[in-house]
Amino acid sequence: MALQRTDVVVLGAGIVGVSAALHLQAKGRAVTLVDRAGAAATETSFGNTGIVQSEAVFPYMFPRAPGEIAAAALGLDPRVRIRYAALPSIAPWVWRYFLASSPSRRLAAGTTMRGLVGRCVAEHRALAAPAGAEALLRPTGWLKVYRTKRGQDIAFKDSEETKPFGLPSEALSREQVLALEPHLGEVVIGGVHFTDPLTTPDPQALTESYARLFVARGGTFVAGDALTLAQSGDGWALTTAAGSLQASAAVVALGPWTADLARAFGYRFPLGVKRGYHMHYAAKDGAILNRPVLDLERGYALTPMTHGLRLTTGAEFARRDDPPSPAHLNRVEPYGREMFPSLGARLDPAPWLGKRPCLPDMIPVIGPAPRHKGLWFDFGHQHLGLTLGPVSGRLLAELMAGETPFVDPTPFRADRF
Ligand SMILES: Cc1cc2nc3c(=O)[nH]c(=O)nc-3n(C[C@H](O)[C@H](O)[C@H](O)COP(=O)(O)OP(=O)(O)OC[C@H]3O[C@@H](n4cnc5c(N)ncnc54)[C@H](O)[C@@H]3O)c2cc1C
Repeated sequence: MALQRTDVVVLGAGIVGVSAALHLQAKGRAVTLVDRAGAAATETSFGNTGIVQSEAVFPYMFPRAPGEIAAAALGLDPRVRIRYAALPSIAPWVWRYFLASSPSRRLAAGTTMRGLVGRCVAEHRALAAPAGAEALLRPTGWLKVYRTKRGQDIAFKDSEETKPFGLPSEALSREQVLALEPHLGEVVIGGVHFTDPLTTPDPQALTESYARLFVARGGTFVAGDALTLAQSGDGWALTTAAGSLQASAAVVALGPWTADLARAFGYRFPLGVKRGYHMHYAAKDGAILNRPVLDLERGYALTPMTHGLRLTTGAEFARRDDPPSPAHLNRVEPYGREMFPSLGARLDPAPWLGKRPCLPDMIPVIGPAPRHKGLWFDFGHQHLGLTLGPVSGRLLAELMAGETPFVDPTPFRADRF
């Protein structure tokens, strides 16, 4: 097969890689996007909760309260599941996550993330319009509901914390919650409505529409294994289904698989995963849900999606490649039926499993590889890859073009590890 040449090869066609490819293309670069699946959004970007979380300045941090840690460790907290057999392998990463979750580092992470999160809605709109995908972004915001006074205190404290960043939210009584979501159950005593975030009824379709835009604008999208990447002369070579590819630069956007490739070039990133499941349900009696609702104290979300009501779980601490388990979903499903009593039958044959790619400080790596010319990273978007994919693509493309980026790139550097 013929040798193909391109300016940049982007490895990984999740929301992060697709967005990077579009932004590099917009800078006038010839870009080839490569994914082993030969299609966009087949992994983590396939089945998430679908919120472009413009309020998510503060990353999810490891709990510091001893009672909370004990409850999680003993399997008493439905927000979290620990696969105990995996603990010896994942303990070093969990410990680094714990250390990075001090109050001062949390505040610093919030300030850093604000630079990206603040532009997430605008960056999605800028891609969705030319992609013809505006109907896949709904201006509904999302709702955090609570069941107890303690839950109320936590919800109000969280929303107060985001106010200095200019992020609007409305505290709602039970009656006000029901005015927005009339089919929620009696367990819900109030909530907070984050009004600015966009939500999508189909994150996979959204990412696919961005990938189609990339191809329509002249980009090449091929199947290939990123692990065949090798240095070649001044640039990079890769084997794809369409033949050998030569590129001046390579962008690694492999989400939870990034560390596999990075290791081959001598970079040992502390990349862990927080796994999460989804299941779709029918709604009984014509009941509707208008926006994603997070059950704060039970740690799952219920979202109206194209394929049904999607329940997404919190974090499962396990090795990336451990087999899926139905336990976490089974654990929270009864709570889902309390929160939304019209939750009907399951619609999928088995729960979907996704793997949130998480660095211990919950800040993505976006920037050059420290020791290899022309190698770039864009990964580690934790709970926020849908939110941050497009804006991260902008930052990466500006850095690769040698421009002054819209935000200080220092906190995102690869050499911080
Ligand atoms: C349950 C759940 C709910 C979530 N909810 C939200 C939410 O509401 N909002 C939000 O912003 N984020 C959410 N997230 C997080 C978000 O889904 C992820 O951060 C995001 O999808 C990561 O995107 P990515 O492109 O980095 O990785 P991925 O989507 O996993 O893409 C990586 C790509 O690399 C490819 N690949 C891997 N290895 C190779 C190889 N050797 N060669 C070639 N290709 C390869 C894969 O095929 C894949 O396409 C959620 C995640 C989960 C699990």
